[in-house]
Amino acid sequence: MDFIPVNEPLLNGNEKKYLCECIDTGWISSEGPFVKEFEQKMSATVNRKYGIAVSNGTAALEVAAQALGIGEGDEVIMPAFTIISCAMAVTKLGAVPVLVDSDPHTWNMKVDEIEAKITPKTRAIMIVHIYGLPVEVDGILALAGKYGLKVIEDAAEMHGQTYKGKPCGSFGDISTFSFYPNKHITTGEGGMVVTDDEGLAERCRMLRNLCFRKDVRYVHDEVSDNYRFTNLQAAVGLAQLERLDEFVARKRAMGKYYTEQLSDIDGLILPIEKTDYADNIYWVYGMVLDRQIEADNKVVQKLLAEEGIGSRTFFWCMHEQPVYQKQGLFQGETYPDAEYLARKGFYIPSGLALTQEQMERVVAGVRKVVSRLVG
Ligand SMILES: *Cc1c(COP(=O)(O)O)cnc(C)c1O
Repeated sequence: MDFIPVNEPLLNGNEKKYLCECIDTGWISSEGPFVKEFEQKMSATVNRKYGIAVSNGTAALEVAAQALGIGEGDEVIMPAFTIISCAMAVTKLGAVPVLVDSDPHTWNMKVDEIEAKITPKTRAIMIVHIYGLPVEVDGILALAGKYGLKVIEDAAEMHGQTYKGKPCGSFGDISTFSFYPNKHITTGEGGMVVTDDEGLAERCRMLRNLCFRKDVRYVHDEVSDNYRFTNLQAAVGLAQLERLDEFVARKRAMGKYYTEQLSDIDGLILPIEKTDYADNIYWVYGMVLDRQIEADNKVVQKLLAEEGIGSRTFFWCMHEQPVYQKQGLFQGETYPDAEYLARKGFYIPSGLALTQEQMERVVAGVRKVVSRLVG
């Protein structure tokens, strides 16, 4: 029986046609015309004035944080349960991530615990929408207003999602996207910063390209990196973007099917379908083992693999990252709900190319594995 990978992207639209255009015209670098077109179209989907495409979602976060002027000794509030890209974007600048525990139902940062973390050193709050449901954004924007803080929105998992009817990627000073193959829109590798602030947009364009001075080439006033995005990536991105609505509908149908089929299984906490402000977009279809199961997510991953089913464990918390423990960061800190998710959460195949037959096999496999663990 074929192994079902945890993610397989869907590339059967205009991807090939636009890529051939790149090759036929010779435009393969970041100077090609598709890059600007993709920046315009992607930023327009989230009602932002400017889009700056970069090499990946991690680079987008780094560029966004640096453009906002976050630096040595600043504190940036973010969830404990997220991808390390969020923390690294901050620590690379000499700033310190200040962590917040997760809501056990939405898996997003507990917004009511943020205010207690604000100090005179706090410069920004990083919103990270986790796995399919948006963070309760209004609460964060209110705090940012009250304390004069910047807001970075990591919308890497949120293409096509809205919060109270407004697009994710439109909140705060600056937002970022990733186009990694497991995101709703992919370019292989890729990312984008979007903002309405012309000055910030200009700074992001400089930071993505080694901070070349505008007046004289090969002269630089600041350290940054080469985070350029190629015309080949943009070609794929444009073809993907044409199908955004279809992809979102497909993900939601997949989520609905999985929930219908899995909800009677004992021992599993499934993702919630909606909150007051959004319907789940199921970036991935994640679930969490409940307290009657002693095994952790690594055991489930192994057992599912034996059934020919790919899966991934959830993110590992920032305060438990060896790299930060070695630096003496987050000593003695605990975030119980985030730690529970990191140990007990996993996601099953939910890529856009997944077939009905594969989903049926996944459901049967999950049922078998989890029933065995419940005993
Ligand atoms: C995928 C992801 C990123 C990083 O994107 P890359 O393109 O893999 O660098 C950042 N934040 C979140 C929440 C993500 O899911």
